[in-house]
Formats: sequence, structure tokens, C-alpha cells
Amino acid sequence: MQKIAHPPSFPAKSYAFTEYVNVKNWIGGQWRESSTGQWLDIENPRHGKVMGKVTLSTAKDVDAAVEAGKKAFPAWRNTPMRERAQVLYRLKQLMERDVAELSWLVSHENGKTYAEGKGDVDKGIECVEYAASLHMMADGGQLDVSRGVNCRTTYEPLGVVAGIVPFNFPVMVPLWMVPNALMAGNAFVLKPSEVVPYGAMKLAQLLQEAGLPDGLFNVVNGQRECVEAIVDQPDLKAVGFVGSTKVAKLLYGRGAQSGKRMLCLGSAKNHVIVVPDADPELTASNIVASSYGCAGQRCMASSLMVAVGDVQPIIEKIAANVRKLKLGEDMGSIISKPAQERIETYIAGAEKAGAKVLVDGRGQKVPGNDGYWVGGTVLDNVTIDMPAGCEEIFGPVLSVVHVKTLEEAINLQHKSLYSNGAAIFTTRGAVARTAVERLEAGMVGVNIGVPVPREPFSFGGFNSSKFGHGDITGWDGFRFWGRPKKVTEKWATYSDASWMS
Ligand code: NAD
Repeated sequence: MQKIAHPPSFPAKSYAFTEYVNVKNWIGGQWRESSTGQWLDIENPRHGKVMGKVTLSTAKDVDAAVEAGKKAFPAWRNTPMRERAQVLYRLKQLMERDVAELSWLVSHENGKTYAEGKGDVDKGIECVEYAASLHMMADGGQLDVSRGVNCRTTYEPLGVVAGIVPFNFPVMVPLWMVPNALMAGNAFVLKPSEVVPYGAMKLAQLLQEAGLPDGLFNVVNGQRECVEAIVDQPDLKAVGFVGSTKVAKLLYGRGAQSGKRMLCLGSAKNHVIVVPDADPELTASNIVASSYGCAGQRCMASSLMVAVGDVQPIIEKIAANVRKLKLGEDMGSIISKPAQERIETYIAGAEKAGAKVLVDGRGQKVPGNDGYWVGGTVLDNVTIDMPAGCEEIFGPVLSVVHVKTLEEAINLQHKSLYSNGAAIFTTRGAVARTAVERLEAGMVGVNIGVPVPREPFSFGGFNSSKFGHGDITGWDGFRFWGRPKKVTEKWATYSDASWMS
């Protein structure tokens, strides 16, 4: 088996197919092959060709990563937050230094365009920046609650914690968790998506270069068996998960049974309501950017447009803009052959059930790039009892549903199981306010297609888009990885003592 050069380099500087090193586990600051000896092919989805292999781990490998974390934890726990922050400042600088390498890497393993890969990295850098600033806020409050009596809250680390992440943002989603958890004083075990394990490999290298002591960031690669071993591992104190609802729900229950703190983010079916007074240009361009960016493989993609009354000119503008999208340049590929087939099945099913295919992306190809492609697709006259109207397609498909009133549109949104985000396009304040107040979604937008909160605001949905309390980023994210200790101290005696003094 090929030896991994350290640091591994990822030389691609264009979309041309490039082979990369095989991906091993990163445990205690070293690359290690898993105990199973089994490997999985990693495909470049733009080319549909194998670019490397990833080691497949089991409970034994998870235990080894947890042991490395346990060894490194005590010294890190005793490292002041201000010093922990220095590692993250350096990580930010190193990510900025290597931003092109990281962005091409994401593009190659995930199929995104270079610009989208860079978006993944830039948002990841923002999460690092947020965590690096946390010590400036002080990590708790204090108050003299009585004469001579002071109460304060401090946040202690939990110990060794873990994160399990999906394929669609190989750098950003790990960085939703890792910086906050490290800043809180924990050691971390990351299980990347087996489909896109290179981003984590590069992060391991950069964290070491930034001065993070070995053992505080570990990576175990694998599939279901590895994930279940993480969730059952008795010394892991908390697990963050981001992926599909089916898995999120299962793991949330399983982890809670073994006494772990769990936060599991799941799938999405984001409704975007368009009313007749909406600005046509702004609405069409925002919806196209939202529905087709990252080929619709985003948990904040607007996948269902609820057209209120006559908004036909806007639908036509959207369709015209979608027809202009250049596959391979404006829009990247689909992650895998099965994913491409799943998306095509949704389109065919909707067509059969009576939807009108306004723009059909099936069968589109990119010459010289023989990977997995679906062009931008617009389905009109969808109803929410069709699978395309109520299930997550996770591809470049916008389904348009028609209703007569805003009230109907809001009631329809309330029926969505996966309420990650929702948005309204209008030029009227009262309409916007009604929607913001009544939409049942964790992240709501007005005249914006991707209402992803930027740091320091936190990220998380409602309903079956999230299991567990709090959000995964921002202040909630930091608190998830720590436990509050409430300290009450009395260092003086006063004659006018209260019951507490
Ligand atoms: P996925 O659920 O298939 O995989 C996510 C992780 O779970 C991976 O690391 C994978 O190895 C593991 N996994 C897969 N099947 C498993 C099983 N049966 N048992 C245990 N572990 C398993 O998700 P994906 O296809 O990688 O990502 C796409 C999904 O993620 C979409 O549903 C999307 O909406 C969701 N997502 C949600 C958010 C959010 O913030 N809510 C963000 C990004 C992606």
C-alpha cells in the first residue's frame, strides 16, 4: 500500500482529473491504516473515475482515536482559552495561505465548481474566526447575588467528543464543530463522509502545522460500522451529526441511550414563497442561485417554490435563467451515479403524475468529463403529495406548487417535515413580517434565497431537520461542547447578612 507523504499535497489547479494519495486515519498525529485492511474507492464525480482509496475503520480504530484524545486532553484542558485561540488564529492564516489548494481539493472530491469549493472553504474560515474570538467574550457570567456572595458560571470541557459529517461541504461542516469544540477544551474525533475524505485530511495537516498538540484532533474514516462504533463508544461524551434525517434520527436515539449528548442535523425541503408584488429580477436570480448552486446538493437549497397567485412572469424568468446555466462551469456534478439516478427518478415520477417539465436537465453531459450530471430542472404544477413535492431530492430541481393566497402558502409550509429553511420574496413589509412570524423553519429569509446565518449567528433547523437542543454553530455550538459549572463563593462576612450570607 502506498505510503502517505507528510504533509500530503494536493496539486490540482484545474478540473483536469488528478489522482491523490490514499486516505488513512489520523490518530495521535500519525497516519494509520485501519485495523480491517479494507479500502473503499473515492471517485472524482466530475470524471466518474477513481482518484484514490479510503481506509475503512471499525470499533478498534475508533477506540484508538479516543485513547489518543484521552491522552492529550488533560494538558489541553489546563491550557487557557487565550492560548487555545492562538492555534485557531494560525489555522485561519494557514487556510488563507492554502485557500486555492483547499478549494480545488473540495472541487475534485465533491464535484463542485471551483467557486463553490472556495465558498465551502471561506465559510469554514469564518467558523474558525468565530471560535478564535470566544475568549474575548469570557466564557460565562458572574454577579454578586448577595452581600459578599458571588455566583458565576464556567464552561468546562467534556473530554473527548466526536463529529460525523456529510458529503456536501467537506471543509465547512467539520469546521462547524471542530473549532468550537477545541476552543471549549475538548479533544475531537472526526468521521468524514467516506465519499469526500480529503478535506479532513488537509485539515489534520493544517491543525498540526498550526501547533495543535497531537491527539487533540483525530480522524477515523469509514461507513456505518464506524459511525455506530462512535455512537456506542463509552468514553465519547458528545456527538454532533450532520447528514440525512433517516440517519440523524437513528443516531440521536442510539447515542442518547448510551448517555451521550447528541445534536443531529438532518434533511431539508426548503419552501420559498413568491407573492405577486415580489421584485422579478431579484427573485428570479436569488431563487436560481439557491436552487442550483452546488447542483442543489445543499441543505439550504430552495427546492420548493410556492407561487402565490399570478407570478407567471417570475416563473418564466427563472426558467430562462436556468436554461442559461452552463453545466460544468456554472454548476458542478452530482456526487455519484446512484444520486444522479435518484434525481432523475424524482423528475420522471413528477412528470408521470402530471407535473410539467419546464426545463429538463436529464441527459445533459459535459464533453470530456464523463461523470455524473443532471442539468438544472424546473418542474411546474407539482403538488405536495408527489414525492418531488414533499421529499428531499437533493439535486438541481426546483418544484413549483401553485396556491391562491399567502395563508395557503404558509399552511403548506407547515406541512413540510424538513423545516431547515424557508424564505419569502415580497416588496411589502407587512407580508414579510407575517411570513417571518409564521413560517415553521429554523432559518427564515426575506428576499434572500439561501438564508444561512453568517457567524456569529447560529445554524440549525426545526422539525425533522434537527434532533437535539440548540444549534450547531455560534454560541449554541460552543455550549454544546461544554458543561456549565455554577460556582457560589463567599469570601467576606457582613453584619447585614441576608439568608444567603
Ligand atoms: P448521509 O446521512 O448519507 O451521511 C452522513 C454521514 O452518516 C456520513 O458520514 C455517512 O458515513 C454516515 N452514514 C450514512 N448512512 C449511515 C447509516 N445507515 N448508519 C450510520 N451512519 C451512516 O448524508 P449525505 O448523503 O452524506 O449528505 C446529504 C444529507 O445531509 C442531506 O439529507 C442533507 O440535507 C443533509 N445535510 C444537512 C445539513 C443540515 O445542516 N441540516 C447540512 C448538510 C447536509
